Amino acid sequence: MSKDAGSKARSAFGTRTVHSGEARRRPSNAVTEPIVCTATYAFSGRAELADHFEGRIEREEYGRYGNPTVRAAEQKIAALDGAEDAVLFGSGMAAISTTLLAFLKAGQHVVMTSDCYRRTRQLVASYLERFEVEATLVPPGDVAALEAAIRDGETRLVITESPTNPYLRVADLPAVAETVHRHRGVKLIVDSTFATPVNQRPLELGADLVVHSCTKYLGGHNDLLAGSLSGGAGVVSAIRDLRGVLGTLLDPHSAYLLIRGLKTLELRVLRQNASAQKIAEWLEEHPMVERVFYPGLASHPDHAVASAQMTGFGGVISFIVKGGLDAASRFVDGVKIPLIAPSLGGVESLIEQPAIMSFYELTTEERRAIGIEEGLVRLSLGVEDADELLADLGQAFDGIPGRSTP
Ligand SMILES: *Cc1c(COP(=O)(O)O)cnc(C)c1O
Repeated sequence: MSKDAGSKARSAFGTRTVHSGEARRRPSNAVTEPIVCTATYAFSGRAELADHFEGRIEREEYGRYGNPTVRAAEQKIAALDGAEDAVLFGSGMAAISTTLLAFLKAGQHVVMTSDCYRRTRQLVASYLERFEVEATLVPPGDVAALEAAIRDGETRLVITESPTNPYLRVADLPAVAETVHRHRGVKLIVDSTFATPVNQRPLELGADLVVHSCTKYLGGHNDLLAGSLSGGAGVVSAIRDLRGVLGTLLDPHSAYLLIRGLKTLELRVLRQNASAQKIAEWLEEHPMVERVFYPGLASHPDHAVASAQMTGFGGVISFIVKGGLDAASRFVDGVKIPLIAPSLGGVESLIEQPAIMSFYELTTEERRAIGIEEGLVRLSLGVEDADELLADLGQAFDGIPGRSTP
């Protein structure tokens, strides 16, 4: 563990969000971490070059290999995940693709849950296949299917998300980790984007590596793209080396915005958890709603698992509006506070219809085959007033034509 992240890891979570990773002595005694905007770093001469290349000193060399603003953000995320180290990338997909390329070679095999992020599945199924890496998809929550899919000597990685999109399935991470680690040489990667380190810390539950799309809650303001990987110091360092080869790095301006966002992570997520719970309970009682998917509801299939391993249930709710695609569209078009947009986790509430956004190019039948209902709506709560959001959703339901007034 790096000295800074290690010492800060002993303080409370809220203190770590504000102070971890940041150097105390800053130029001009500034309170905030500066944006070091440089492509390259100067050396004083031959002696310093030799010290650097022979590893006697730690310093920057060239922008593709590292940047102090990015490094501060990395150490803050490591402290929040409870990891030895973390490495940042230009997007969540850059984090995932660089990590997969670092681990895999021809002849190896990956197991992933069938509801993983669509682009992760595309990367594994369509691109890694070209490099003779095979993949097996297993249903979420099925530990027996996972056990059956692991091929000793071939399987290198198991990738899972928790909670997942859009039905918020929660994997029993201790059970998954135990299954994975019964097999030599297999590593468990958990994409914990929907949970954030406030609600869930997969490394403490047995995962080897944790990925976040920092574009979502960690940045938290819908104004940057970034991705992180946290884990053991050795593996993180190897993946950082590959980042320097592939060029999948994060720029210092976005790293600064990420640091700034992280300082309020706990405040935002606790509020989003509370709003989501309140609104999910209200939706479940609403006559225009067929079904609500939120792990904080007793009706959710993974409520017990989520309660055991998470300290909060997150800020995303999915629900099916009665009356199919048209009724759901009327409802979404009628909502005034949430913006109609992809993504989640920011201070602005966002709403979307998976059938006509994320899964637009599929037919109704193809969508049905993968379980995407026509009337499905996904709502990502921001930090607006929960009662006002609730009233807004209510007026949007009232505006659906033909809705029988109770
Ligand atoms: C958004 C998302 C990603 C991809 O992250 P980008 O920052 O958009 O590249 C990966 N996994 C999950 C669960 C996501 O929600």
